[in-house]
Amino acid sequence: MKIYSDPRLLSLGIIHGTVSRQAGNMRERANQDALFSQLNIPTDKILRLHQVHSADLVTILNEPAAQAQQATSPLTQADGWIISPQGWGASVLTADCVPLFLWDEAAHLTALVHAGWRGVAQGLPQKTAHQMRQLGAQGKICAYLGPHIQKCCFEVQEDTACQFDAGCVIRQNGKIFVDLTKDIIRQLALEGVQEHDVYAPQWCTCGNKEQFFSYRRDHHRDVQISFIYKP
Ligand SMILES: [Zn+2]
Repeated sequence: MKIYSDPRLLSLGIIHGTVSRQAGNMRERANQDALFSQLNIPTDKILRLHQVHSADLVTILNEPAAQAQQATSPLTQADGWIISPQGWGASVLTADCVPLFLWDEAAHLTALVHAGWRGVAQGLPQKTAHQMRQLGAQGKICAYLGPHIQKCCFEVQEDTACQFDAGCVIRQNGKIFVDLTKDIIRQLALEGVQEHDVYAPQWCTCGNKEQFFSYRRDHHRDVQISFIYKP
């Protein structure tokens, strides 16, 4: 098992990352519990969502809000978190979608977003950075894009391509590809996030079967988990 994370965020004391497929299909709660137990993270302090490819975020700024959220049943329908309190964390599930991590200078505010193509097309990355500013993010905002389908594999039809900024659409040999990474960097820049503060390694879920589940490649519903936890 490997955890794909950002050294800058680790150095701020935030345990986080996207977990490779060896840890199992994270749609199964038992696999999540086993993972967090192995990492010495209390699984009942990790918040979870019912993801619906929306542009909705849940904001958790203190311990009571975290407790109330954890007691909510069924799970809240949304696609991202802005979370602050110590001793709490949050997770999202992805196969090819982008697990997007954001944090302000001292990681007082952190965010974890499930940014699928629909979320990106709806401006969810920009919205997240904007909300962090409104919530009082201190200093610069940094970002990390975890493993997701890259432009090499994300071939689309015109009806999808037309929902993206033209600069993020690649047309070659009669095929159309969307560069989700580039569009996220573009959206974050609109909120003042500098490109050199964005870490976006080219880890392609679709192109690396050994490490990642990919719906595009295998048409299974298996997913990997991304999480963020502030001890
Ligand atoms: Zn690829």
